[in-house]
Amino acid sequence: MLSQCVFSVETPVGPPVEIIRHTFASNLPKPVKRISLITGLHGDELEGLYICHRLIETLKSLEEQNAFKGEVHIYPAVNPQALETGTRLWPFFSVDINRTFGQTNTPSLPSEVSKVLLEDIKSNSDLAVDIHSSNLHLMELPQIRIIKGFEKKLVPLAKFCNVDLIWVHPHAEIFESTLGYSLNQAKIPTLVIETGICLRINKNYCEQIVLGILNLLQQTGILDGDEPQANIIPPKVVQPECVTMIQAKNAGLFVKQTEVGQIITEGEKIGTLIDPVEGKVLEEICSPCSGLLFTIREHPLTSKGTPLARIATEEPA
Ligand SMILES: [Zn+2]
Repeated sequence: MLSQCVFSVETPVGPPVEIIRHTFASNLPKPVKRISLITGLHGDELEGLYICHRLIETLKSLEEQNAFKGEVHIYPAVNPQALETGTRLWPFFSVDINRTFGQTNTPSLPSEVSKVLLEDIKSNSDLAVDIHSSNLHLMELPQIRIIKGFEKKLVPLAKFCNVDLIWVHPHAEIFESTLGYSLNQAKIPTLVIETGICLRINKNYCEQIVLGILNLLQQTGILDGDEPQANIIPPKVVQPECVTMIQAKNAGLFVKQTEVGQIITEGEKIGTLIDPVEGKVLEEICSPCSGLLFTIREHPLTSKGTPLARIATEEPA
């Protein structure tokens, strides 16, 4: 494994903060394919870091067995200053770096970093995976989100990744400044994984994704693959009309009664919304449909309209 610094940021005190790329080179003179795995765009999403740790461990031992027919690049912490403070945004600037890609008009440190990073990934990749966790509020079942229009190329690749769900969702202008969109626009197929919840490590979900990425490497010919990977989950592929969101009708505390990954039936209770001060139940939250519960609210505080859960249904809602 070769480690290189792709960007270095001066800090007022102490050593500079660096963005590192690890490379596992191909044994062939010309790699069959080059893939980049990127994590940590948001500094409070730690599961991608754990996934990288587990992957690097495994890939180091595969390197000793000369198993690389393609090239693997790992960018394990691309927003180190946000990671140091455990925050989603780049501190000092309070900028979401994953909303600065592809922009040319605002010169700032975060947008300079996103420019360098995008160019570095583009020049080193035929394929990319950008790994995220959810925010503080919602727990997510391991899933890949694909913007409508890219699904033809991406769904077959996403099926290798051992996720429970592939969610094809409509395009919105806000996605245009993300890394995933910019790479896909540049004709580098890029999968965006969303799993778990920020500031935590869900070991089972991480191991599930590690297996999925190893399978992706094998299926795309990057890793020599005589040994088939362990059972890979056939994901549920859902279109936007088959995703139902349940929202709070009241401000209160949401007390959940189920977990993501459950198949629930219409009318089944998923939690209770309470008024803690008056000792009253404001709402019994029941599912309006049957399907796979893939998002559940972990942060109890709600306002009117707060998302509580998402369900992937068989039929359009
Ligand atoms: Zn993120």
